[in-house]
Amino acid sequence: MKTDYQQILQLVYNLDLSNYAKSRNFIDGSVSMLSPYISRGLLSTKIVVDYLSSKHSNLNKFEKFIQELAWRDYWQIVWKYKNINNDIKRKQLDVRQFGIPKSILSASTGIEAIDKSINSLYETGYVHNHARMYISSIICNISKCHWKIPAQWFYYHLLDGDWGSNALSWQWVSGTNSSKKYYANQSNINLFCHTNQKNTFLDLDYDKLTKIDIPIVLQEVEQPILKTTSIKFNKFDLDFKKPLLIYNYYNIDPKWKSDLNANRVFLIEPSLFMKYPVSKKAMNFAVDLAKNIPEINFYFGSFNQLSKDFSVDSIYYKEHPLNKHYEGNMDSRDWIFKEQNYYPSFFKFWNSNKKILGFS
Ligand SMILES: Cc1cc2nc3c(=O)[nH]c(=O)nc-3n(C[C@H](O)[C@H](O)[C@H](O)COP(=O)(O)OP(=O)(O)OC[C@H]3O[C@@H](n4cnc5c(N)ncnc54)[C@H](O)[C@@H]3O)c2cc1C
Repeated sequence: MKTDYQQILQLVYNLDLSNYAKSRNFIDGSVSMLSPYISRGLLSTKIVVDYLSSKHSNLNKFEKFIQELAWRDYWQIVWKYKNINNDIKRKQLDVRQFGIPKSILSASTGIEAIDKSINSLYETGYVHNHARMYISSIICNISKCHWKIPAQWFYYHLLDGDWGSNALSWQWVSGTNSSKKYYANQSNINLFCHTNQKNTFLDLDYDKLTKIDIPIVLQEVEQPILKTTSIKFNKFDLDFKKPLLIYNYYNIDPKWKSDLNANRVFLIEPSLFMKYPVSKKAMNFAVDLAKNIPEINFYFGSFNQLSKDFSVDSIYYKEHPLNKHYEGNMDSRDWIFKEQNYYPSFFKFWNSNKKILGFS
């Protein structure tokens, strides 16, 4: 995965979306793979849409892609308004287990496309959207596990781990954030993942699949061990005459106030990573991205400790649901649409805003 800012911008400039709408649901579809950069705040959804607008007078052929970017903004807005750590709209029905099936953790369910995607999660930190839906459906709806622990496991390994998109998608699949649980059978997986498996525990029509008992291969459940490895950084001094800009796991934007003569600190708060652990691979990726910020220093400790250690006059940070305890000057994040009201469904949000981009 690229970590150089200029090379990442090139990915945006070279986006080929000609086949996006038709192919995006296939495991080898031409998706952008921009999510690790958007989730880490290096790119915003707005930057991508602005770039497309600057190159094309009509955005109609990019509507599906921009709609996906808008899903990202939508989940962020929901996160601002709701406690997404609890079942958000209704309780998850028919929960029998808390944890994750052992065969999922060891990528040995016997469903080829699923096992391959889990291995990809461990090896690359990326999983295709449809495979994410399949994996979460097997865990929550076939194995009848509550969504929260599996969502934490997924977030831990994903380079694009974003608690808003992640928790709310798991809740969408498990029916706590949607009107019904999402199921995919073997023929659906075969179609979109180009496999040809038969006689698996998913090889049933939907009427039967939604009523099966937990298959033997999914019955043994484990608690994953998720710990953020601590990282050692060099000590540093700050210039007390200059303002302090705070970057973090969700704000690694090299363009943010880039003209300001300021101290720049990437804050790693242990309490946050205790609650939302991430893998060594995900943390190293974030640290490598942060190296695009000139003269960045890394601080391991709480916000309060940082502001005691360095009593500068002015602190700046970007608004985020996980930053509510920061104090100082808060800048807003970039959004595709200015409006930040809560909508109970994505399509209400989308339909009320899409005209701004010229979509009918
Ligand atoms: C169970 C589950 C967990 C998920 N966890 C995360 C997560 O932790 N972080 C994350 O960024 N996305 C998550 N997603 C959403 C989606 O799978 C990824 O954003 C997408 O696969 C990223 O690949 P891409 O950049 O190639 O997407 P593209 O198809 O190229 O889409 C462009 C961008 O739009 C946004 N986007 C696309 N699809 C979605 C979606 N369904 N929901 C929200 N935003 C979307 C992403 O920012 C993405 O980079 C999750 C989905 C599911 C079903």
